[in-house]
Amino acid sequence: MSKQTIFTKIIAGDIPHHKIYEDESTFAFLDAEPVNPGHTLVVPKEPYQNIYEIPQDDFTKVMETVHRLAPKIKDGVSADGINIGINNEPAAGQEVMHLHVHIMPRFDSDSFSHWQGQDDYHDDVRGKEIAENIREEL
Ligand code: 5GP
Repeated sequence: MSKQTIFTKIIAGDIPHHKIYEDESTFAFLDAEPVNPGHTLVVPKEPYQNIYEIPQDDFTKVMETVHRLAPKIKDGVSADGINIGINNEPAAGQEVMHLHVHIMPRFDSDSFSHWQGQDDYHDDVRGKEIAENIREEL
């Protein structure tokens, strides 16, 4: 895979960044527009676009790095909690088409709000149908 992304340029050292960690297959650096101090992006060195494209083994390596870094980032900025997320496709807010995991430190005082949940499925039929449709894809 030879595609270039802004993140492959960061990995190559062609764009200034604050590196947190690197190993054979993953790379982590501070997000340029952090939601809070310490907001870190963990990426595979191969520029897989998203969760659908990345092979399971490579995704496992990315998540191993996330698992390793999350508590260190929390302690490094004295955060009260951590959000971890991946945006896949523009509809979900993905802007850089190179898979990345956001590790976002949270503070009791930051007063960010979460997504609003919609009404419960209420009737069993709707929930049953949705669950069945998803299971059929497995
Ligand atoms: P997405 O919306 O694709 O999930 O998130 C992309 C993230 O990449 C954003 O949080 C944005 O601030 C970050 N980002 C985009 N370009 C750069 C860059 O050149 N350097 C760094 N460090 N972060 C970037």
